[in-house]
Parts: sequence; C-alpha cells; structure tokens
Amino acid sequence: MSKSLQAIRGMNDILPEQTPLWRYFEGTVARLLDNYGYRQIRMPIVEFTELFKRSIGEVTDIVEKEMYTFDDRNGDSLTLRPEGTAACVRAVLEHGITGGGQVQKLWYIGPMFRHERPQKGRYRQFHQIGCEVFNLDGPDIDAELIVLTWRLWGELGIRDAVKLELNSLGTAEARARYRDALVEFLSARLEHLDEDSQRRLKTNPLRVLDTKNPDTQAVLVDAPKLADYLDDESRVHFEGLKARLDAAGIPYVINPKLVRGLDYYSKTVFEWVTDKLGAQGTVCAGGRYDGLVEQMGGKPTPGVGFAMGIERLVLMLEALDKVPEELSRQVDVYLCAFGEAAELAALTLSERVRDQLPNLRLQINAGAGSFKSQFKKADKSGALYALILGDDELAQQVVGFKPLRGQGEQQSIAWDALAAHLATCVVQG
Ligand code: ATP
Ligand code: MG
Repeated sequence: MSKSLQAIRGMNDILPEQTPLWRYFEGTVARLLDNYGYRQIRMPIVEFTELFKRSIGEVTDIVEKEMYTFDDRNGDSLTLRPEGTAACVRAVLEHGITGGGQVQKLWYIGPMFRHERPQKGRYRQFHQIGCEVFNLDGPDIDAELIVLTWRLWGELGIRDAVKLELNSLGTAEARARYRDALVEFLSARLEHLDEDSQRRLKTNPLRVLDTKNPDTQAVLVDAPKLADYLDDESRVHFEGLKARLDAAGIPYVINPKLVRGLDYYSKTVFEWVTDKLGAQGTVCAGGRYDGLVEQMGGKPTPGVGFAMGIERLVLMLEALDKVPEELSRQVDVYLCAFGEAAELAALTLSERVRDQLPNLRLQINAGAGSFKSQFKKADKSGALYALILGDDELAQQVVGFKPLRGQGEQQSIAWDALAAHLATCVVQG
C-alpha cells in the first residue's frame, strides 16, 4: 500500500480485537468517576494555538517541539490538543461555570496529539482520561483524586504494579526563589551539565531536575532542595495530603525531583509509575494548578487534576494478564437459520426475543452456508448456545437449542418459550 494511504506513524487503529478491553477500561473509570460525583465534559479536539502556549508554557517540551500546529484557511493558528487541562480551563471560563467560587468536579476522555518519537507506550495520537476540580483549595481534594485512582487500580487488579510518587512545588513565589538558588548553583557547575540541561538552565531550569544524564544527576546530588524553599502554606497543604494518604492506607514515596513537564503546576504534583512498561513508566500524572485560571484571564480559582494514559494502562492490563475472562466472549447466542422461510422467521423471532431480553447478545448468521459452516461460525463466535431454525423447526414453531460449551444435550424449545428459557441460562451483564 502506498505510504500516503497508510495510517500516520504513531497514530493507531484500535482494532475490534482490542476494543473490548478499551471499553472495559473506559467503562470502569467512567463508573468510578460518576460514583465520586465527577461530571463529564467534552471539549473540541482543536483549539487556538495561543491557548496551549499560554497555559502549558512556551518553554516546555510540549510547546517547543511536540504540538501539531497548522493554519486554518482563514489564517488562524490552530493546534490539535496535546492535553486536556488547557481546553477544560478555557471551557469553564468561557461558560462561567466556575464563577463565584462554584465548585466543579469534571472529567473528560479523548484523543491527544503530540509529535514524539513513537515507541511502545508513546504515540502521536494517544488517549487520556482526565479529571479537573475547580474551587477547592484543600488537600482533601488532592487526596480524593489519588484515592479514587487507587481504587481504580484495585478494581483493575494492578495495585501491586504501580507506585505513587509525590512532591510539592510550592507556590509560584516559593518556586521562583528556589529557581534562583538552583540557577546560581548550576551556573557555577555549567561545564558538568549535559547539553540539554545547559539549555534548560536558561529556559526552564526546574526541568534540569528531570535529567536522565548520569553526570548531571551527580551534580544535582548537592543542589539546593525544593523542599527547603517551600512556603508555609504549601508545607501545611503537603502535610495535610500526606496525612490523608496515610489514613487511607495508600503507600507513596516522596520524589523531590518530580517537577512535571508543564509550567502550570503549584503545590501538589504526583505520578503513578510502573516498572512493567519499560521506559514509558508513568501511567497517570497530575497536580495542583492554583494559578492557571487567573493566568488565563479568570478570577483566582484553585484547580487540581490528573490525566491517565489509556494506551499505557491497556498495555499494563495485558502485560499483567488482567484482561477479564468474559471479554473474550462477545456473543451469548448464535442463531443459525437455513432456507428463505426460516431466515424470515429467524428475524421476527429474534426481534421478539430482543424485546424481552434487551441485554441479550444475540447474533443471527449472516448469509447462506451449509449446516457445517454455520455451526463452525457459531462456535467461533464464542457463543454459549446455538439456536437452529430449519424447515422442520419452522413447521413445528420451535428452535433447536444446542449448548456449545458442553453444557448438556440439544433440545427443542417452542418459540413462545424461548425468551424465558434463555433468561434462565444466559447470565446477562
Ligand atoms: P512522559 O513523561 O511519559 O512523556 P508526560 O509527563 O509528558 O509523560 P502528561 O502530559 O502528564 O505526560 O500526560 C499524562 C499521561 O498521559 C502520562 O502519564 C501518560 O500515561 C500519557 N501520555 C503522555 N504522553 C503520551 C504519549 N505520547 N503516548 C501515550 N501516552 C502518553
Ligand atoms: Mg511527555
């Protein structure tokens, strides 16, 4: 196939074999968020470029080199959203739903776009589920976000495989004081820093803490610590969060180097990381951004949120063998009809059954075929039972009811009794 007729590198089709697991994951998260009182919001996938520059920060990896930016036909610069928070803040401001201190607990789901080097767990179109909470400034809500993700890991059966890393970045002022101290320290040791870190020192010095370079990491051992620069308010907030996580029995490690790649964070930042996915180990990340709404033209409005990467979590469920058994079966009952008259009867009969059992997963054979080939399809579908409707059955207004998974002999069931019979033997989700 010519390259221009293939999918774009790093942008993947999610095939029918994979969608049951995606839907299971998304459904589990959605139910959990509903239960905690979060409401879904849906934002457009494209926004003005300026929105992301202003919110994420000009000198971040995302804005400097990862955005899909293009000119609209009328000359506006637009960008495929690289993350959800900026658009969510824009939306709540635009609709005035956080005005007057109104609390909003929101969640969103959808594709994000970043021009990164595609590899396992890192794509150019990927998907996130995220939460954003506005107008709650206490550590209790930071804790709730973490507690609900902890519950999610429990429901998915992957708690043992994730670890919570926590840090506090302090207020913008505290961070500015720390930044000055860090710059002074690192500038005196410039020649020991890798090239990337030398550049970051000028543009976004906190990101130097993120470095993977061993020499730079060695220099950082004696660098000033952000924790020593925390303002009292942030310190109290952080202690409050830790106390709540302790009370909830959620283990965590403090990672003083956790700074996150976006400019808008303040106070709490956290990441759920795993060692089951190789280099792409962060499955969920977030933090507090008390200054962001104001920075985007709104009234001062505390905010906190997180986003999780669906691809990485799906990969994890597969790697840890946590794909629920029942996902492999998408059909309960497979109806095989033979001959024109029987096919017609099959249609009306199956519609009657669906009326009575709306959750039944019933598939009718598509197209003609020998008895043998129909049966093969029925078996392959994973269905628990096959229904057989040929001329004989038609004449007697019955169907052959054949268990496909070794649960007993074939029997004859009257059409009128079929729904009731199915209700007793198919457990409906
Ligand atoms: P990383 O350090 O892995 O690049 P990030 O800090 O850039 O992550 P965030 O912007 O915090 O990531 O996004 C939240 C989550 O979204 C990440 O923890 C990850 O699970 C997922 N994610 C981010 N970028 C990608 C990507 N290119 N492909 C797949 N998932 C991603
Ligand atoms: Mg990244």
